Formats: sequence, C-alpha cells, structure tokens
Amino acid sequence: TSSASSNEQSSNMAPVETQQYDYIVIGGGSGGSGSARRAAGWYGKKTLIVESGRSGGTCVNVGCVPKKMTWNFATINETLEIGKHYGYEIPEKVKFDYTHFKNTRDAVIKRLNGAYERNWGREGIDLVQGRAGFVEPKVIEVKLADGSGTVRYTAPHILLATGGRPSLPSVPGAEHGITSDGFFAMEELPPKIAVVGAGYIAVEIAGVLNALDVDTHMFIRGENFLRKFDPMIQKTMTDRYDAAGVTLHKNHTGFKEVQLIRDGKGKDRLLKLIGHDGSEMEVNELLWAVGRAPEVEDLNLDIPGVKLNAGGHVVVDEYQNTNVEGVYALGDMTGQAELTPVAIAAGRQLGSRLFGPPELKHSKLSYENIPTVVFSHPEVGCVGLTEPEARQRYGDDKIKVYHTKFTAMFYDVGLSPEEKAKNPTEMKLICAGPQEKVVGLHILGLGVGEMLQGFGVAVKMGATKQDFDSCVAIHPTSAEELVTLR
Ligand code: FAD
Ligand code: NDP
Repeated sequence: TSSASSNEQSSNMAPVETQQYDYIVIGGGSGGSGSARRAAGWYGKKTLIVESGRSGGTCVNVGCVPKKMTWNFATINETLEIGKHYGYEIPEKVKFDYTHFKNTRDAVIKRLNGAYERNWGREGIDLVQGRAGFVEPKVIEVKLADGSGTVRYTAPHILLATGGRPSLPSVPGAEHGITSDGFFAMEELPPKIAVVGAGYIAVEIAGVLNALDVDTHMFIRGENFLRKFDPMIQKTMTDRYDAAGVTLHKNHTGFKEVQLIRDGKGKDRLLKLIGHDGSEMEVNELLWAVGRAPEVEDLNLDIPGVKLNAGGHVVVDEYQNTNVEGVYALGDMTGQAELTPVAIAAGRQLGSRLFGPPELKHSKLSYENIPTVVFSHPEVGCVGLTEPEARQRYGDDKIKVYHTKFTAMFYDVGLSPEEKAKNPTEMKLICAGPQEKVVGLHILGLGVGEMLQGFGVAVKMGATKQDFDSCVAIHPTSAEELVTLR
C-alpha cells in the first residue's frame, strides 16, 4: 500500500518515518496562515505549516507591508511640497535618510515574522522550516532549512498555498536588473531607474521613486498603464505620472539587451539598456515589474497529478478543490485575484468547510466585487466592473455613468494648473438597470484607499444609486462627492 511504501524507501534502507497530521499547509503566507489558523485555532485540528522562507509570505516580507511603508515614506515628501503653499518654510531640497527608513522597515517586518510564529504556536500549529514536495500522492517530504535532512508528513487534507515569485523576461542580461524583491533589499536609492511594466507593482514602485526624487523612467507597451482598470483610471493616472515628472516611454517595443557597465550600489551602479529600436540609455538600476509566476516547481505536483492551467497556475474549483481529492490550493498560485485578503478569506472559508460544523460544509469565498487599491500617487480604488465590462454585460442602454473630477480641498491652496494636474481627484459610478444598481465604482485621489472599504460593503450589499443618494454627506470631504453625484 502507499502507506507501507512511505515507511520503507527500499528494502536495504532504514524505514522513513512519516508523521501524521489532520491538515498540512504548504506555505506560511497569507492564505496558508489564514487556513491553518482556522483549522487549528477554531476547530482544534492537528495542523502543520511548512514554510521555506520567512513567516508571513510575500505580503509581510516583500509585498504589501514594506510597499505600504515605503508609500507612506514617499507621501511625506509629497506632502512637504504642498506644505509650502500653506506657508511652511521648507527648504527646496529636504534631506531624508533612506537607509534609516529601510532599517526601520526591516525591524517592523521582523516583528511581524515573530507575531505570525507566536500566533501559530498559541493555536497549537506546528511549523517546520523547509521546502516541501510530494513523494507520494498523499505524502510530502520537507528538505529542512537548517540542512539537517528531510522529514516526511502525511494528512488526509493537504493545502497548497505556495504563492508566486516575480518573473524576468527572456532578454539577454535581464538578470542584471532587479524585481520587487530586489527593490525591498535596496539600501540606497539609485539616482536614475528604469521601471519596466504597467501593472500594480510597476505603478506603485515608480510612483514611490518619483516622489523620492529619483529620475524615474517607465517603459510601457501601450499608451497607458493599469490597462486592466477602468479607462478613466488608465488615462488620468498615466497623465498624472507624466505631469509629476515620471518619464514615460510609451508603446515601447522592449529591450534587446541589458549590459552591466559598473557593479555597485546606488550611483555606483550603471547599466546600459539597448532597445529593439536601436535606442540606448544608461541607468543606475533596472526594475522588472512584468508580472508574477506561480511557485510550483519544487512541489512535484505530477506525483499526486494536480492539474495546472496554461499559465502554470493550479486549477481549482469554486471550493478551492484541485482535481485530486484531499488536495486544495488557493492564493497567488491559483492566479485568482492575487491579493492578500483574498488568500486569507479563501483559506478561512476552506478551513471552515473542511473542519467546521455541518452548516459550514458549503463555505466558499465569493470572488465577486472584490475591492482593490493601487497605492499609486495618488491612490486608485475600485470595486466591480469597469465601464467597458458593464456595457458588455448589460448593454449600452442599461448603463448610466456618473462622473466627477475636481481638486480636493487639501490642494486648493493656490496651486498652478500644472501643480493641480499632479493632484487630481476623480470618481465614476457605473449603474445598471432601472434600479440603477451600482455595478462599478472607480475612484482616484487623496485618501481613496481608506474611502473604498466602506463603499465596498455598500456595493457588495447591492446598493443602488438611490441608496447612495439617501446617505447624508460628510462635509467637507472628498468622499461626499460619491453620495451627491448628478
Ligand atoms: P504567499 O504570501 O506568497 O505565501 C507563500 C509562501 O509559500 C511563501 O512564504 C513561500 O516561502 C512559501 N513556499 C513556496 N514554495 C514552498 C515550498 N515548496 N515549500 C514550503 N514553502 C513554500 N496584496 C494586497 O492585498 N495589497 C497590497 O498592497 C499588495 N501589495 C503587494 C506588493 C508587492 C510588491 C507584491 C509582490 C505583492 C503584493 N500584494 C498585495 C499581493 C499579496 O502579497 C499576495 O496576493 C499574497 O501574499 C498571496 O498570498 P499567498 O498565501 O497566496 O502566497
Ligand atoms: P500585473 O499583472 O498587475 O502587471 C504586469 C504588467 O506587466 C502588465 O501590466 C503588463 O502590461 C506588463 N508586462 C508583461 N510583460 C511585459 C513585457 N515583456 N514588457 C513590458 N511590460 C510587460 O502584475 P504585477 O507583477 O504588477 O503584480 C502582480 C499581482 O500582485 C497584481 O496583479 C496584484 O494582484 C498583486 N499586487 C497587488 C497590489 C495591491 O493590492 N496594491 C500591489 C502589488 C501587487 P501590459 O499588458 O499593459 O503591457
């Protein structure tokens, strides 16, 4: 039987002990942690987390947390700029210590790593640090991180939650550039950087660097970035970055080669970028932000026979089941809305479904109307359908769009038209049918990241334009415009 073979590697070798759990979670990131804590903390299941890196996964170590902290750091520099208009005496060039900030950020992350591990310990979850892969359909082997060997584990329920990693394009010399992981490792800022990509990460990191006075060049394949977002967001944000001093290389046809001219840090590093169009540019750093790939290679998914789609993501149904009974997957490795709260929520629902009381046997995450924010400059928030998606789903005659663009009061302090262009606020409500149900909400401007959560609840509850109108405005705010749109 398979359990006999797992205990006996071959007749002349010592038997390999296989430890038994109720639930094995591979990956101690957002989704894995959320699911393990539900299984162990709420339902008392004997649970194991296998983690090959630092506890907390991408979000804590090289994602949301360091990103938002860096966004806060950069936002202070931008706010100082506006402070001058209020009458603050601020020197033309305010000095900041990036290395100091990086050390502070690293310390926060270290604390969070510890908090994750303490929470797991308190809830009785075992943590093994090492890299996991299947050796039999229901047995995993972990190569221990301390180099002391391997251990095998089995469970009736195994969750794959191994996330993803940044992709590099196949350009000769691409390895001389960095990805978002390298950005967070950077100890000093480069004077000049090239950022390749047009999605969340490219826009967030380019925005931060530009706000920190780095000469930032964005290379995008189209006319606008954030091309999966509503056209209003694409256009206004691309124009805003242009106005704020990011050099946009639009309709870029890619690089033929990247040459490392001088190795080093900050200004001591030099790269040459050679374009397919024959152009050449020297920069101190190159950041690839061209998407992420699922982290599946070492899992030996062919052993249980877990199916992948064309993009290499694990195929799951709406309950996070893979095609193999007792093996589940969620989070970035499945390519479904790659956001931390999505992975956590999917993990908790799965934990409830597998181990909770009978009334939770059909628990699953609804992937409809997930709110999301891009921490750009300014922030972008949206929930629901873009205008083209809504028109396609409901038909042009069933859609009514409300829109406003204005300068937030915070910036209404005698800024020139050029300076105002750097600080737009814009909102769009997309309503469908005779009831004018709100099916899309898109906002950009100061504070929209905080604004969106509450409006997300309203949209999730099926609010109509009339519901929005019946809510008394909070004055003076930017958010009040959303309940007074005409
Ligand atoms: P992860 O958090 O990546 O966890 C997977 C874990 O599995 C990792 O710790 C890894 O070490 C481990 N692992 C992998 N393979 C193995 C193996 N074989 N054995 C053992 N362990 C293994 N989302 C937001 O909601 N808001 C944001 O602001 C935001 N900002 C982001 C910024 C950046 C730069 C990036 C890269 C991502 C950001 N995200 C953000 C996305 C978010 O980080 C991810 O969606 C989320 O972390 C996915 O969680 P996960 O559990 O699927 O995977
Ligand atoms: P995205 O999928 O958002 O963007 C990848 C971008 O790369 C696309 O916009 C595409 O642009 C561009 N691209 C792809 N290949 C090339 C190429 N060869 N040359 C130039 N550009 C290229 O991926 P990210 O890596 O930015 O982020 C991954 C995911 O992580 C996001 O989708 C999001 O779910 C999550 N995330 C969430 C954040 C948040 O919540 N605030 C922040 C950061 C990440 P195009 O097709 O337009 O040319």
